[in-house]
Amino acid sequence: MSVIAANLQDVNGRIAAAAQQAGRPAGAVALLAVSKTFPDGAVREAFAAGQRAFGENYVQEGVAKVVALADLREQIAWHFIGPLQSNKTRLVAEHFDWVHAIDRLRVAERLSAQRPAGMAPLQVCIQVNISDEASKSGVAPEQALALAQAVAALPGLRLRGLMAIPEPAADAAAQRLPFAALRALLGSLREAGLDVDTLSMGMSGDMEAAIAEGATLVRIGTAIFGSRPAPAPHG
Ligand SMILES: *Cc1c(COP(=O)(O)O)cnc(C)c1O
Repeated sequence: MSVIAANLQDVNGRIAAAAQQAGRPAGAVALLAVSKTFPDGAVREAFAAGQRAFGENYVQEGVAKVVALADLREQIAWHFIGPLQSNKTRLVAEHFDWVHAIDRLRVAERLSAQRPAGMAPLQVCIQVNISDEASKSGVAPEQALALAQAVAALPGLRLRGLMAIPEPAADAAAQRLPFAALRALLGSLREAGLDVDTLSMGMSGDMEAAIAEGATLVRIGTAIFGSRPAPAPHG
C-alpha cells in the first residue's frame, strides 16, 4: 500500500472514530483531501485509494491540476478553498464544483455571473472569521446572515453553508469553542429560512474537535499527503 493510501485509511479511521464518539452516524462527515502544493500524481494515488473530493488553494495551480486530471473529471469533486480575489473568479467558476471561502458579495456575484450555463450551480460556503482575528479573512459573524441571504439569491450559485479556519488552540476543549460558535451560526441561518447543510471545519490538527461540534466536511492536507514546503507565491 502506498503512503498516501495508508494515510487515507488512517484519516478515515480517525473520522469514523470521532463521529462515533460524538454519536453521529458513520458517513455524516465527508473528507476533503487538500492537495495544494502536491503534484498530479499524488491526487491520482489518492484517487486510486478511493478518495473522490479534492481541495486546492491557488487558482493557477488548482486549474492546472483539474486540467491535468481531466480523464477523472466526472468522478472528482474539486473544491476551491483558498482566498479568492475578484479578478480571479472566472477560472474558478469554470473549473471547480465548490468554493469555500466566500466573504464578499462582489466575489459571489462574479462567480455566479461567470458560471457556465451548462454546468450545475457552483456549491458555495461563506467563510466566517469565527475567532475574530483582525488579520484573518472571513466575514464577521454578525454579517454572515446578510451575506448568506444575498448569496442564496444568486442564480449561478447554490449556498451550502459555512466555513471557518479558527486560530490554533492549546487543547481539545479550546479547539471546540469556535467550532461550536460556527455550528450555532449555521443554526441561526436555518432559523432564518435558509436551506443550508454544510459545516466546513476541521483540518489535520483539529478534525476531532470539529467533528465533535458537527463538522459535515473536514479539509485534510498534511495527514494525507505529508508536510508542505513553505508557502510559495502562487496566484
Ligand atoms: C491547507 C488548508 C487545509 C489543510 O490543512 P492541513 O493542516 O494540512 O490539514 C485546510 N483548509 C484550508 C483552507 C487550507 O488552506
